[in-house]
Amino acid sequence: MSADLRRTAAQLSRDLAEGTTTSVELTQASLDRIAQVDGSVHAFLALNADQALDSARASDERRGRGETTGPLDGVPIAVKDVLATEGLATTCGSRILEGWVPPYDATVVTRVRGAGMPILGKTNMDEFAMGSSTEHSAYGTTHNPWDLDRIPGGSGGGSAAAVASFEAPLALGTDTGGSIRQPGAVTGTVGVKPTYGGVSRYGLVALANSLDQVGPVTRTVEDAALLHTVIAGHDPRDSTSLDQPVPDFLAAARQGATGDLSGVRIGVITELAGEGWQAGVMARFQESVDLLTKAGADVVEVSCPHFVHALATYYLILPAEASSNLARFDAMRYGLRVLPEGVDAPSAEQVMRATREVGFGDEVKRRIILGTYALSSGYYDAYYGQAQKLRTLISNDFAQAFEVADVLVSPTAPTTAFPIGDKVDDPLAMYLNDLATIPANLAGVPGISVPSGLADEDGLPAGFQVLAPALADDRCYRVGAALESLLVEQWGGPLLDRAPALEGGSL
Ligand code: GLN
Repeated sequence: MSADLRRTAAQLSRDLAEGTTTSVELTQASLDRIAQVDGSVHAFLALNADQALDSARASDERRGRGETTGPLDGVPIAVKDVLATEGLATTCGSRILEGWVPPYDATVVTRVRGAGMPILGKTNMDEFAMGSSTEHSAYGTTHNPWDLDRIPGGSGGGSAAAVASFEAPLALGTDTGGSIRQPGAVTGTVGVKPTYGGVSRYGLVALANSLDQVGPVTRTVEDAALLHTVIAGHDPRDSTSLDQPVPDFLAAARQGATGDLSGVRIGVITELAGEGWQAGVMARFQESVDLLTKAGADVVEVSCPHFVHALATYYLILPAEASSNLARFDAMRYGLRVLPEGVDAPSAEQVMRATREVGFGDEVKRRIILGTYALSSGYYDAYYGQAQKLRTLISNDFAQAFEVADVLVSPTAPTTAFPIGDKVDDPLAMYLNDLATIPANLAGVPGISVPSGLADEDGLPAGFQVLAPALADDRCYRVGAALESLLVEQWGGPLLDRAPALEGGSL
């Protein structure tokens, strides 16, 4: 593989500025790498080679004229297939959207294009972003580059695997309950869920509007800060988009990278540790906390008593919103249309039923049933109403915890990557993967996952999660970068250098 692709986006940005590489070279190298390994990884659902190379040429020409748009001009990116891309098929990992080519770009896509970043293609995901393993994709599972027999996390396993296997320097993901952070944890990459409303959701096919956020999927904290800066900021097309100043993520990451956290108060969440957590994951977590203490942080333990109900709360609110969102896939407006067999002049309702029967997978149907039940009259107060109350209590827990701590920390996911097939038929076991990530979505606060080390006897990675108050995403970058720089020093290089399949292995 081309040596270039091992470099971080920040390094590639410098290489481009110094003229030691070009965007065309980088984009072509990424496409070659995809051609070489994606048959095994299956991170991509669609490639955008010609257009990517056109954008790369345009970027090189701009640079030649001294008109570079910003630091990521010319650095290629992969985009999760839940974001609308004009002229490029968008499936959300579902049969029901097969053949749909959006007539417009999501705002985040407009922004990465505007920043001069060639879009390599669309990445695989659990259908409509429901899942923690990418096994619910209608187009086949993505494989974890650390061990091809393991899951890459989900729902954004494709974006994480693309970045971990050096197919793309950067990717966009979406996080409704953990779909950026949990794949980050199990693939040894960095994932950020921004503050709710901090990044536009316009053109993001909604799973659950009150929880969804778009965010960066990268190999380093600095790269995440660079990408977050491109996509953040107010968008009048999204009514939930916040019209607030965007913090300086990059400055925060660089400050953190000095390894000095004097005066930073870090709260370890009591409820997100202990029983049910893989021993190695907890051991790496504890070591990371010790490192942060050595870096000068004041570490305290804080209790968030309602977090134990976060999973149950989420699995009422999410299906309720999702069932309503998915009603738009009615065989009339988008993608697939299936005519019922043996019916001469089928009614709209018959076509809808036949299409939804074939077009949606089991997990999607399960959640539609759950959601419509929770919202039905007679049950609304007992389920949806109760869940909304708990959501408030969870937000209050955060508010109280942030009175004594600047950031809160936990392991990102309870286990390392599990074997493909292990949990796909056990929805509850699958849901448990997001135990630690879901509270942030319910409260709208930002979070980052950074690799914490190898956490099991198979040498698979785990993640460390840092959560901050709404609009204080910069704190995630500061603490995340501090931990990353201290750990990388200890490891003697990036964790991904230790992925067996990548190091002289099958990839
Ligand atoms: N795994 C969670 C779910 O299945 C989170 C999904 C997401 O963040 N998109 O709902």
